[in-house]
Amino acid sequence: MDMKSETINDILLQSREAFLVYRNRTGDEKAAFLEAIAKSIEDLGDPLIRTAMGETNLPEARLQGERGRTTNQLRQFAAMVKEGSWVEARIDTAIPDRQPLPKPDMRKMMVPLGPVVVFGASNFPFAYSTAGVDTASALAAGCTVVLKAHPAHPQTSALVAGAIEKAIRTCGEHPGVFQHVTDSSFEAGRMLVQHPMTKGVGFTGSFSGGKALYDFAASRQEPIPVFAEMGSINPVFILPGALKVRGEKVAEMYAASITQGVGQFCTNPGLLLSLKGADLDSFTKQLADRIRAIAPGTMLHPGIAENFVRNRGKALKEKGVTLVAESATAPQSNQAIPTIASVEAETFTKNHNLLEEVFGPYSLLVGARSQAELLAALDVIPGQLTATIIGEENELKEYSEFIARVTDRVGRVIVNGVPTGVEVCPAMHHGGPFPATTDSRFTSVGIDAAKRWVRPVSFQNFPHDLLPAELQDQNPLGIWRLVNNNWTK
Ligand code: NAP
Repeated sequence: MDMKSETINDILLQSREAFLVYRNRTGDEKAAFLEAIAKSIEDLGDPLIRTAMGETNLPEARLQGERGRTTNQLRQFAAMVKEGSWVEARIDTAIPDRQPLPKPDMRKMMVPLGPVVVFGASNFPFAYSTAGVDTASALAAGCTVVLKAHPAHPQTSALVAGAIEKAIRTCGEHPGVFQHVTDSSFEAGRMLVQHPMTKGVGFTGSFSGGKALYDFAASRQEPIPVFAEMGSINPVFILPGALKVRGEKVAEMYAASITQGVGQFCTNPGLLLSLKGADLDSFTKQLADRIRAIAPGTMLHPGIAENFVRNRGKALKEKGVTLVAESATAPQSNQAIPTIASVEAETFTKNHNLLEEVFGPYSLLVGARSQAELLAALDVIPGQLTATIIGEENELKEYSEFIARVTDRVGRVIVNGVPTGVEVCPAMHHGGPFPATTDSRFTSVGIDAAKRWVRPVSFQNFPHDLLPAELQDQNPLGIWRLVNNNWTK
């Protein structure tokens, strides 16, 4: 069913009305609300996990883990707003007799943007969906949320939305603080993004989806920020020393990482690059053996499975690309076959089609004849969420300039590990230069994700009792502030 523009208008007006109340909530009040959401999700118990299993084909243990991650995220944001220093308060007191001009009293802090629209992701039905990190961070920031449910898991999304609505009632919040939209049409998405009351957008999904929403937002009379996390192929550079000393271990680690969760992670390693030679040959053989032994897995939904088959087929048809190995087990319907292909670095560098994400258990092995070819291959890779360097201690030092160039184009650099498995902690940056995201300055994992939904405001010569508590002289909230250039509580 296509949503009428009047319905969207009502939803956004309601969101705006709720925002006018919710933006004034104290840190303690918002923390209580976020904690109530976490509790309410936990109270859904087993039926939530069963429903998600039925809709996503994800296994029970993974969904239980993801639910834990989601409630943990909510509680991390609750702790952040309770502590309060996240508003980045700065105070510069007046110097009335300064020459040649008096200095005014200036105080600055972050304030929420307003109603934001969040698009639930398909590949994380909890952690990046209805009460996922975009929603949690926006509510923590003091924004209200309109959530467009991902059409691949509508019942799961409805259950979680019900849990949020229960928390709204428990905490006496305005019902417009969170609203759940289940219409699955691009037109509804466009109208939500382009409604004048919408002040920000959060998205995780395909490049085409994220870029379309970004363009909708940019063509508004008042453009608004879109924080879209899109595709990434997460290059892995395997340095020669490591390949020689522990190629077999690396092959084992990467066969597991490429196929984990049927490859349906934005951090999936879709590109492995190394110098050609006997060590790469034996690594390739070991990786191929392991990939053949891994059975195909069922993907999240038929659309993603169809995309995998199409994009894998397209990639394998590109000039110079050779199939190295695929699972020895034939895939059933909606399953993805683990696949490794290879290409010469010289060919890779000339063909931009090879930079396209094949979302699923697919990785392209690029063999370079020299360091210069490896560097040339690096130089054509656009912005990524992550890059990984596998190397021995000495060669990491030797490659320090190369690693600096890798760092230029990613949001996270991993040494001797795998990019899959994103730790939820304040030091995590989950973002990267375009086209990995539409704004590399912000993360969508960890408490800094709330910074996407705020903007700074300076209060000049304000009557003291009209100032927000965060900026009052006595520091009633006891938060960290930069006062006349000194950090103080
Ligand atoms: P998607 O196609 O990008 O859709 C995600 C959401 O965006 C849906 O709600 C969709 O609306 C909306 N949308 C997409 N294109 C739009 C447009 N042109 N205008 C307005 N709204 C639009 O993602 P998906 O369904 O999850 O999966 C498709 C592909 O995305 C996968 O095969 C994979 O390549 C990629 N993906 C990448 C990641 C990642 O983390 N990098 C994660 C998930 C998926 P509807 O509800 O109307 O469909």
